[in-house]
Amino acid sequence: SQIKKNILITGGAGFIGSHVVRLMVNRYPHYRIVNLDKLTYAGNLANLRDIEKSPNYLFVREDICDFEAMQRVFETYAIDSVIHLAAESHVDRSITDPFSFARTNVMGTLNLLEAARRTWKPGEEHLFYHISTDEVYGSLPFGDILFTEETRYDPHSPYSASKAASDHFVRAYHDTYGLPIVISNCSNNYGPYQFPEKLIPLFINNIRHNKPLPVYGKGENVRDWLYVEDHARAIDLIFHKGKRGDTYNIGGFNEWKNIDLIKVLIRTVDRLLGRKEGESEKLITYVTDRAGHDLRYAIDSTKLKNELGWEPSLQFEEGIEKTVRWYLDNQEWLDEVTSGDYQHYYRKMYGE
Ligand code: NAD
Repeated sequence: SQIKKNILITGGAGFIGSHVVRLMVNRYPHYRIVNLDKLTYAGNLANLRDIEKSPNYLFVREDICDFEAMQRVFETYAIDSVIHLAAESHVDRSITDPFSFARTNVMGTLNLLEAARRTWKPGEEHLFYHISTDEVYGSLPFGDILFTEETRYDPHSPYSASKAASDHFVRAYHDTYGLPIVISNCSNNYGPYQFPEKLIPLFINNIRHNKPLPVYGKGENVRDWLYVEDHARAIDLIFHKGKRGDTYNIGGFNEWKNIDLIKVLIRTVDRLLGRKEGESEKLITYVTDRAGHDLRYAIDSTKLKNELGWEPSLQFEEGIEKTVRWYLDNQEWLDEVTSGDYQHYYRKMYGE
C-alpha cells in the first residue's frame, strides 16, 4: 500500500538499526524515516553513507533519556509509528556500568512510550515496535529445549535485566492504555557494521592483526546466530503484519559453541588472507569467564515462520564468509569507528 507513514527509528546509527533504516528507506520511498540517535561510542553515521542523501530519510541527534526532546520529535515530525532499537547493548559494559543501562534501556523506553501515549489519538493508525533480545529468558542447559514466546523471563545480567524491564513497560502500556505495540526477541546478530567490541568483528580484527583472541572460560557457551539482514527482514515483516499486542521470537536455528564458532572464523580469515588454514589458532587465549555468564541461548522462531512465513535466508557458512570479507574489505570503517572511546575501553578490558 502507498499509505504515507512517518516512522521514528531509534538507534538507527547502530549495528542492527542501520540495517533496518537502510531496508526501510530503500524499500518504502513513500515513508519518511526519521533516524533518532544520540551517537554514543556505538552509533556511527558512517554506517549509513549510502542512504544519507535519500529524500525520505532524516537524521535527528537526540538522547531518548530527554523526555521533552522526545515529545518535541513526535510533534515536529508527526510520528505515527516507532521502531525502537536505541539501547546500551554490550553485556560486559553493563557489568561495569549498570546505571547507564537502566537509564537508556528502561527510562529511555519509558520516555518514548509516554511521548507516544500523549501524542497519539485513539482511532488513528499507530504502532510502537520494541526490539528486544532472547537474553531476557535467561539461560538454558545443553540439550534440545528452546526459548518460546511463553518462556518465563529470567534475566541474569544488568543488560538483560534492563531489556526485560523495558519489555514489561511496553506490555504495560498496551494493557493499561491500549497503546498498539509489538515486541520481538532476537538471538545474537552478526554481519557488517557491528561495533568491534562484539565477538565476531573483534575476533576478525584481532586475527587479521595477530592479536590474542580472548575466549571466556572454556569457550563452551552456546549462542544462536542470525545474519543481521535476516533480522532486518523479520522486523519489516513484523512491523507490517505482526499481530498488535503480540511477541515474536526471531532466531536462526543455528547454535554454536563459542570455541567452534571461533575456529570457523579463524579458518575463514586465514584462508581469505592467504595464510595456512588454522594457523591463527595459536592466538586463542582463555580468560576468566564473564560473571554470571549464561550457558546457552537458543530460540524457537516457529511462530514467526508459521504466522508470517519468515525464515533465515543464509546458511551460516555463507553468512560468515560474507561477514569476514566485509570486515577485511572495510578496514577504513573499522579504523574510523575504533578511534577514540573504544580504544580506551579496549585497554581497560584487555590491557595492551
Ligand atoms: P548498538 O549498540 O550497535 O547500537 C545502539 C544504538 O543506540 C547506537 O547507535 C547508539 O548511539 C544508540 N543509543 C544508545 N543510547 C542512546 C540514547 N540514550 N539515545 C539515543 N540513542 C542511543 O546495538 P545493536 O546491536 O544494533 O542493538 C540494537 C537493539 O537490538 C538493542 O535494543 C538491542 O538490545 C537489540 N538486540 C541486539 C542483538 C544483537 O545481537 N546485537 C540481538 C537482539 C536484540
